[in-house]
Amino acid sequence: MSLSGKAKLAGVIGWPVGHSWSPRLHGHWLEFYGIDGAYVPLPVRPADFAEVLRALPRMGFSGANVTLPHKETALALVDHLDPLARRIGAVNTLIVRSDGSIEGRNTDAFGFRENLRHVLPGLSLAAGPAVVVGAGGAARAVVAALEDAGAPEIRLVNRTRERAENLAKSMGALVRVIDWEQRHDCLADTALLVNTTTQGMSGQPPLPLLLDRLPLTATVTDLVYVPLETPLLADARRRGLAVVDGLGMLLHQARPGFEAWFGVMPEVTDTLRRFVEA
Ligand code: NAP
Repeated sequence: MSLSGKAKLAGVIGWPVGHSWSPRLHGHWLEFYGIDGAYVPLPVRPADFAEVLRALPRMGFSGANVTLPHKETALALVDHLDPLARRIGAVNTLIVRSDGSIEGRNTDAFGFRENLRHVLPGLSLAAGPAVVVGAGGAARAVVAALEDAGAPEIRLVNRTRERAENLAKSMGALVRVIDWEQRHDCLADTALLVNTTTQGMSGQPPLPLLLDRLPLTATVTDLVYVPLETPLLADARRRGLAVVDGLGMLLHQARPGFEAWFGVMPEVTDTLRRFVEA
């Protein structure tokens, strides 16, 4: 649709930003809902980030997504920090309030939870222990989501134990750090297994994990979405386990920002998935 002079504006700030799928995704929703608005890529060097963030309200932007390498920097720059973003330690969504101040949120935990709920409506994250493999930025959001959903125990396994311990320290008492060597054994009686490492991505080796310890009632999900069917998910599927791929999280985490900027909570539909997959 064509833009009027009153079009609402948002975008994604990153460096580089050319690989970002967000303009296509938000562009699809703007078109689908017939909204007078635009979502643009904003390539911003780290040295310019603070100035650009401050300029958003002055340029009439409703807000923006923040991606690498600015997610942690944004935390210290926003006027209002959402408690969940503080817990996760990163901001991925900026919302300009009516008084011109900027709120920082993190929507990755929402995306993780909503994706599981969308694909497996009957799944309860409180049903049993969860195993989270990896302790980077994505793992922080997953652990926060699991805590908030009432997971009784979160077993955190990372190649570098110290990083897992740091994550556990900043989260609640339900997080138990497990040695990398113990990663197979800790799968016994697990309800949910989550890969948050980069292993299994195109060009990377599969995550080295023996799934035969998992109960047949377990669900396996991977944050990696290129390829959509990672070796971990393929292995789990062969064993008859429930699997959830990572693309849905990517789509769902974008919804709260779109709602705040453009006034409509968008849906993740099969048509949208096919559009993004293509
Ligand atoms: P990150 O902060 O760089 O963390 C990477 C993690 O992978 C660390 O735990 C690291 O362990 C582990 N790792 C790397 N190489 C490894 C290896 N050879 N063996 C075992 N572990 C290894 O990255 P991130 O931001 O958390 O992202 C992680 C993945 O999640 C990426 O694939 C990203 O695309 C995906 N992601 C998906 C979504 C989504 O919406 N689906 C959202 C966010 C992220 P060490 O600490 O030992 O290095």
